[in-house]
Amino acid sequence: MKKKHWYQFLWIASAVYLLLGFVNILFAWLGMLCFLIPVLIAVLKGDKAYCNHYCGRGQLFELLGNRHGLSRKKEIPSFLRSRWFRYGFLIFFFIMFFNMLFSTYMVFAGAAGLKQVVTLIWTIRLPWNWAYSAQGIAPWAAQFAFGFYSVMLTSTVLGFATMLLYKPRSWCVYCPMGTATQLICKAKNHGKRTGKIKGGS
Ligand code: SF4
Repeated sequence: MKKKHWYQFLWIASAVYLLLGFVNILFAWLGMLCFLIPVLIAVLKGDKAYCNHYCGRGQLFELLGNRHGLSRKKEIPSFLRSRWFRYGFLIFFFIMFFNMLFSTYMVFAGAAGLKQVVTLIWTIRLPWNWAYSAQGIAPWAAQFAFGFYSVMLTSTVLGFATMLLYKPRSWCVYCPMGTATQLICKAKNHGKRTGKIKGGS
């Protein structure tokens, strides 16, 4: 049997991360690693090693869809693969991300109060006060955690839905981090072809 590498178990970290958000929202800050590491790898190495080896979320969809048979394994609709959709979704995602940063700033500046909610798919506001106790934490840091966890939960729900409907790693086709790092790699390699994401396409 082929020996497994440590990074093949990073799906556990992804699953634990999601669960920790139900226990204490401040754990959401750990999700910044999923933003910073792929960007750093793309900038420094000019490749998609993060997507191909280290992304726990991609592994989780692969595991649930393939090993546990939750995916219909159908071809993803071609519009989801199209450039305009992937780039459009990337832009939309980052606008919403900066909107979340602005909300954090408003709390930091004292112009708005802390909202103890997690917003799912940018519209559904779920009360999340059980996962927060104010002790010793600056309200802006908590606001960022609520906002960031909303981003992570939303992308997980979208990825889970497309995993069920299409191929296990269909999310990887239009994942904003995948698109962003692809662009960085292209720029870094001056248009040379970069590595393809396993299974997603
Ligand atoms: S495309 Fe997104 S979800 Fe897929 S492996 Fe890359 S970072 Fe992870």
